Amino acid sequence: MYVKVETERLNFIRFNQSKLRSDEYIHLRDAIATEGHAANIGCLTILPASYDKHPVIDRTWTARVFKQKITVLMDYIVKQKVFGAVRCWMYSVEWQKRGLPHAHILLWMFDKIRPDHIDSIISAEIPDKQTDPELYSIVTTSMIHGPCGVHNPESVCMENGNCTKRFPRPFTAETISGNDGYPLYRRRSPDDNGKWIELMVKRNETNVTVIVDNRWIVPYFPLLGQ
Ligand SMILES: [Zn+2]
Repeated sequence: MYVKVETERLNFIRFNQSKLRSDEYIHLRDAIATEGHAANIGCLTILPASYDKHPVIDRTWTARVFKQKITVLMDYIVKQKVFGAVRCWMYSVEWQKRGLPHAHILLWMFDKIRPDHIDSIISAEIPDKQTDPELYSIVTTSMIHGPCGVHNPESVCMENGNCTKRFPRPFTAETISGNDGYPLYRRRSPDDNGKWIELMVKRNETNVTVIVDNRWIVPYFPLLGQ
């Protein structure tokens, strides 16, 4: 996909040399002026400075790291059976022509996952700072949605006054498996020993401190943080 996009970009530059005023580039002009062999410049293509070659390295690197990470993840799932024994599996990786890749993974299990088992795998809560400072740091910096809504009505996720990602989610004392197959993850309230943090958000060009509790946590797989 990357090569396809890159080819399109290079072709645009090659076929739009006059529009890009490439003949005005100083070295090329000098060559024509001093040597007078304009015909000999062949089909040289001038790459404008705006054509950045670094993303090639970045994306190759990203692809390699992503491949390593997904291999480790599939090992955790299939060989170490973190969700239980897997009957079969498949995944597809999406790049969407930009940004970071992500994978959709489909697993067929021998046994259904029970709600009490889910809590040991997926969490939607702020972890304990003392017992796992590293996980605490990852979750509080990367796994907090928004904040949007009352905390920040200008957030990109907001549409007609509502968060399109359905945050903040309600507090839930225990994980419940829904009838549609989607579990409602445990999100304990501060009254029920749930953690909370203070977070600085920008509102109308000024920084304000908001309280973020478990209603704002994007569900995560703690094992991946290791
Ligand atoms: Zn939102």
